[in-house]
Amino acid sequence: MAAALPRRIGVFGGAFDPPHTAHVALARVAIAQLRMDVLFVIPTGVAFHKNRDLTPAVHRLEMTHLAFAELDCVVVDPRETQRIGPSYTVDTLLELRAEYPGAQLFLVLGEDQAQAWGSWHRFREIPGLATICVAGRADSTRAGGIFDALSPEIPGLRRLEMPPMEVSATDIRLRLAHGQSVHPLVFDPVARYIAQHHLYRTA
Ligand code: ATP
Repeated sequence: MAAALPRRIGVFGGAFDPPHTAHVALARVAIAQLRMDVLFVIPTGVAFHKNRDLTPAVHRLEMTHLAFAELDCVVVDPRETQRIGPSYTVDTLLELRAEYPGAQLFLVLGEDQAQAWGSWHRFREIPGLATICVAGRADSTRAGGIFDALSPEIPGLRRLEMPPMEVSATDIRLRLAHGQSVHPLVFDPVARYIAQHHLYRTA
């Protein structure tokens, strides 16, 4: 008998440069609170909103596999890294909707991403494709306020309850460039991969 198609599908995008413990904590919270059948973790290709060159996708994908290895219902999806040119969330959601007709899609975001909402490509289409779910972030300048500010603009917006975690990939890259430890901000297999491949040696 063919396996049933997932009905509740999460989409969690990011640079994952590198993936860290707050990414995995957010994924766990989203899977539990939204009762997801599967969570697609999707490293970005050329992200239009990041103003620096990302680490080559082959490394970010491998580190993302290592970071999320213990979460059974996570699937690391390389589709955005395989696109030529900028990669847009709206295109990914349209593809997933075509691949999983009838499934409910949930787009999982940290607060900083939600804050940039109005600058996303074709952002008005996104609430019609997926339920947008926002988790708080410790370093947010407007912690708590983003959700309330966006609620009137984004139909069906949901809040994910997550203890604040002061972890960012920017801080991890800086620490690595200065030869400092990144334990316990990244999981050990990711830290070993970074060391083996001499990543993040310069700021
Ligand atoms: P950078 O510091 O390079 O901008 P980042 O740590 O924000 O990276 P991303 O890969 O850009 O990591 O983030 C992917 C997603 O995870 C985004 O939606 C982001 O808001 C969310 N996220 C990242 N860190 C946290 C955190 N500490 N708490 C909650 N959400 C987070």
